[in-house]
This record gives sequence, structure tokens and C-alpha cells, in this order.
Amino acid sequence: MTDAQRKICLRAIDHYGINHQEEKAKEELAELLTELSRLHDGRTTKEKIVGELADVLVMCEQLRLIFGAADVDKAVDYKLARLVRRIKLSGAVKRTRANGQGRNQAP
Ligand SMILES: [Mg+2]
Repeated sequence: MTDAQRKICLRAIDHYGINHQEEKAKEELAELLTELSRLHDGRTTKEKIVGELADVLVMCEQLRLIFGAADVDKAVDYKLARLVRRIKLSGAVKRTRANGQGRNQAP
């Protein structure tokens, strides 16, 4: 997220208030969950998922600012390091992005 985008998130928190934005985050997370649940039976589109994902990312940035960016960033670092360890330990070879089969690629 850019500094300009972050400033807009801070402005939204100041304008609507913390409690309202926490409730809005729940709403946006639910909307993404709904679209993801429709992914494998053809009841959604990539565009709908991208839109809901953008909503969630904006709300997650607001939550990050509300709960403390440094603490959240530290937790993210920890979780990613743990993920790397798990991947290395599993020895899994499923590489959907590396072999061009990610969602951003044409089928
Ligand atoms: Mg939404």
C-alpha cells in the first residue's frame, strides 16, 4: 500500500471512527468469503473477487493502523518466517505460480 493510500485509510478511520470501521471490516470480509465460496461452482467472476479482495485489503490496512502497524508488521514477519520453515519441512513441490497456473494466467 502506498503512503497516499495509507493516508486515505487514516482519513477514513478519523472520519467514521474505529468502531464503525471494525464493523465495516467484518462486512467486507464476509463479502469476500461469499465470493470465494462461489469460486469453484461458477457463481462468481474474477472481477468480483478482485473487487472484494480490494475492499478487504483496504479494511485490513485500516485494522493494521487501528491495532498498531508495528505490532502487526512484526506478527506478519513471524508468520511468514514460520510459513517458509513449514514449506521447507514439507518438501512439497506444488508450484502453481511458478508453472504459470496461477489465477492471473489464462487457462
Ligand atoms: Mg465489498
